[in-house]
Amino acid sequence: MPELPEVETVRRGLEESLLGQRISRLITKRADLRFPIPADIQSRTEKKVVISISRKAKFLLITLEDGTIILSHLGMSGRWTIISEDLKSTPGRFAHGGMIGTGEGPHDWVILQFENGTEAVYSDPRRFGFIDVIAPGNEGFHPMLEKLGPDPLPNTLTPDMLNKSLVGRKAPLKASLLNQGIIAGLGNIYVCEALSRARLSPRRRSGTIASERGPTNRIHRLVSSIHDVISEAIDAGGSTLNDYRGVHGEEALGYFPLSFQVYGREGEPCLNEDCSGTVQRYVQSGRSTYSCPTCQR
Ligand SMILES: [Zn+2]
Repeated sequence: MPELPEVETVRRGLEESLLGQRISRLITKRADLRFPIPADIQSRTEKKVVISISRKAKFLLITLEDGTIILSHLGMSGRWTIISEDLKSTPGRFAHGGMIGTGEGPHDWVILQFENGTEAVYSDPRRFGFIDVIAPGNEGFHPMLEKLGPDPLPNTLTPDMLNKSLVGRKAPLKASLLNQGIIAGLGNIYVCEALSRARLSPRRRSGTIASERGPTNRIHRLVSSIHDVISEAIDAGGSTLNDYRGVHGEEALGYFPLSFQVYGREGEPCLNEDCSGTVQRYVQSGRSTYSCPTCQR
């Protein structure tokens, strides 16, 4: 499943190719993905120029000149592929992923054609992703966006915010960090990594690290760890444990997976400084947790 850093990689790729371009045609190959695609999507988007491509958690927002937004979520297996005029004439375009992302593949569901000849193709074999259209000015009222907490980045998530969200909360720390209303788009792997760096137990009651008087040292440590983990992953082009690809079809594998401190390292030595503990794996709310019981308290 694409995590936030991968989605940010996709955002940057789309921005590079589509910013300032006018949509000539939008083609849908089926009426629904995870949810129905609005039937009037063509009339609301065609002939309009893309003025920004932003991201909120794992949602991509393609904003058009009149304020209309094409909202895209990649779900489990969604991907955007850019086909430019020169690439189209290159047989090498089939080198990655077979027919996927060519506009003619069996899972290519939405095709955005631009006046300059570029095409952006949305493919999604499992169809857990979706495409929606938001009317100008209605971004804050979209049911998928309105309840999202801040993105886990330095300019959006502050120690004060996290402290306020955790005061009095009884849920385990890991569950709180996965709660989209508290932090939006921080996935399972990154939560495990951030907790390891902050040396906090995933099972600790959330409220025990927060204080009504303001952010504690533990909150500061945790927020710094979250920022670091996500920033490093974005710099590395997204982590990814399966065959996730960037928008240009190339493998988007970064070095970051190799530097996981705890994730996927059950039974191996803890990498935290001055700790001789061993990484353990257990299941919390159906998801794998990796942590070191020696230094994560
Ligand atoms: Zn340790």
